[in-house]
Amino acid sequence: MSDAVQFRTTTQHMLKESKVYAKHILMGGLSGFESPIGLDRHDRIDALRTGDIGFVHSWDINTSVDGPGTRMTVFLSGCPLRCQFCQNPDTWKMRDGKPVYLQDMIKRVTRYKDVFQNTGGGVTFSGGESLMQSAFVSRVFHAVHENGIHTCLDTSGFLSKNFTDEMIEDVDLCLLDVKSGDEKTYYEVTGSQLAPTIEFGQRLNKAGKKIWVRFVLVPGLTDSVENVENVANICETFRGAVEHIDVLPFHQLGRPKWHEMNIPYPLEHTESPSKGLKQRVRSQFETHGFKVY
Ligand code: SF4
Repeated sequence: MSDAVQFRTTTQHMLKESKVYAKHILMGGLSGFESPIGLDRHDRIDALRTGDIGFVHSWDINTSVDGPGTRMTVFLSGCPLRCQFCQNPDTWKMRDGKPVYLQDMIKRVTRYKDVFQNTGGGVTFSGGESLMQSAFVSRVFHAVHENGIHTCLDTSGFLSKNFTDEMIEDVDLCLLDVKSGDEKTYYEVTGSQLAPTIEFGQRLNKAGKKIWVRFVLVPGLTDSVENVENVANICETFRGAVEHIDVLPFHQLGRPKWHEMNIPYPLEHTESPSKGLKQRVRSQFETHGFKVY
């Protein structure tokens, strides 16, 4: 990973049109962080476990993408899932990220406190999978939250066992990906299990937290009436927390990265959902009483 500023043009969970996303990015990359050098492999594993360092893919300042207001979004490296529609397979391996000291990250987030307060924004930890580095995330959240900064966790929930109820206390909002509604389809989509996502949603609800659910609509993969109904039924189990559901239409923006990395891309020929399909899925969620974006 180069130290040069690298602007992200997409985010794996929102699957926004790249032009729209780029328009909302003000700055970012990995500039301004001093990399811990001289740490051997053992030291790094230890520091990762305690949260003294985190492995970061990139960060940016954006508006209206990863939570309310103007936000600093930190994209951590490492993800145990293998979503067919992943926009950023370059975040999958933690070792491809850059190690960043905890105190450096806290300072960097705090630097934007005035911007956050003027815009109703804050910090969002995304990935990769943010809960793969739960100690680092929770320690940054704890420090900045005490300082009055809004915190948002963007996650699939798959590793939620790593995130204690005490850690949840420092989360204001969770962007929770519910990638499918039954174990079989979820496994087909992600290669992993669905149950931890449901449990995490329920724990957040119990803790009185807010959730924005994200559902990626992929024709031929996640779009069946039954699958969408199942996702809606899951959301009902933590309804009190759900502020809205984002139905994110699949795009082919991630395809070049799969090609560059020589990974067989399963959605090579999949098209974006039609207007009619998007409307049908939105209506299904609305029928369950959810606000849908
Ligand atoms: S959960 Fe992991 S594999 Fe799935 S879209 Fe996000 S980064 Fe990609």
